[in-house]
Formats: sequence, structure tokens, C-alpha cells
Amino acid sequence: MQRLIVASANKGKLREIKELLSDKYDIISMSDAGINVDIDETGSTFEENALIKAKAVYELCGCPVISDDSGLMVYALNGEPGVYSARYAGEEHDDEKNNLKLLKNLSDTADRRAKFVSVVAFYDGKREVTAEGTVEGEILREKHGDNGFGYDPLFYSFELKKSFGEASAEEKNTVSHRARALKNLTEKL
Ligand code: IMP
Repeated sequence: MQRLIVASANKGKLREIKELLSDKYDIISMSDAGINVDIDETGSTFEENALIKAKAVYELCGCPVISDDSGLMVYALNGEPGVYSARYAGEEHDDEKNNLKLLKNLSDTADRRAKFVSVVAFYDGKREVTAEGTVEGEILREKHGDNGFGYDPLFYSFELKKSFGEASAEEKNTVSHRARALKNLTEKL
């Protein structure tokens, strides 16, 4: 089985990537590979940031890497928080603060439609391949469930007819942006 290092310190993402790819690849976290690096996400698109992360980790391990850059895009907020999803609440951000800021910014908004976007990248020093996945839904007025991570408790999936916070890992993986991006990526590889 080909070994792939995941260029992410986000435990939620890492868990999902393992669930989604472990039948085809030997998925290793950065910490398992002895890599501890904080990568500046200086790109202005998900694709740029996914490639920045994959290449930065490749420079340290010299082995095949995959990365995910993802976020929530709210239509009424012109696509915000987008690439800034992880840092939406500013310097001292965490999931709780990001969720509260989102609820505040949407408090007077009736149109609550949103999508999650994931761009995943593969890099092995020779080949660079990217793929995208999306999932449509809307932002609830309060948190529902506490499964998943990030904005999951506020994201109502039109396909699952429940929030990602209420969905099991298996249910989320049937429709998620990350599952779709990884499926597209593995088809290209
Ligand atoms: P990144 O590490 O810059 O790609 O940050 C992605 C951020 O987008 C996460 O920290 C979450 O806030 C949000 N996000 C991405 N994917 C998901 C998901 O599947 N569920 C909930 N939040 C997500």
C-alpha cells in the first residue's frame, strides 16, 4: 500500500481522511512521521493553500503527501468565511468563537444558504494533482448536535436532512465536501 503523509494538524480532518482513504493508502499523520511545522496559508484560494501545505511537508519528508484546504462559503456573506474559515474569529480563534461569529453575522439574514468546499492536493516531488468537492446546505440559528468539528453543528445538509453535528461519521462521509474531493483525487491518481 502506498504511504501518504497528511499535511494537516487538524484532528477532525485527519480522522476523516483516514476513514475515507485507509482502504487504498497507508495514511500517516505529520506527528506520526515526526514532522511538526506550522505552515503559513498565504494563498487566496483553497487550491493555492492546499498546494502550499502539500509542498511544505514534502520538503520536510521527501515522500508523497496529501493535504486538504477547506472552508465554509456563505452565499449572503459573499462567500465568507471561505479560506479564512479556520481563523474567522481572529487571532484567538477556536471552533466555538468561529461559530458564534458566524451566527452574529447572520443574525438578520433570512437567506442562510452555504456550502462547504474542500480542495485536496497530492504532491510527490514530481506530480502535483488537485481535486475539489462541495456540499450544499444552510446555516442553522443554533448548534444541533456535537459530532464532527468546526462548523458541523451549524451546517444543515440538504442531502442528509440533518446537521453534520447530528450525523454519524459514516453519514457525513457519504455526502461531505472532503469525501467528494478525495474521491475525485483518487480517480485522478
Ligand atoms: P484549513 O485548515 O485552513 O483548511 O481550515 C479549514 C476550516 O474550515 C476548519 O478549521 C473549519 O473551521 C472549516 N471546515 C472545513 N471543513 C469542515 C468540515 O468538514 N466541518 C466543519 N468545518 C469545516
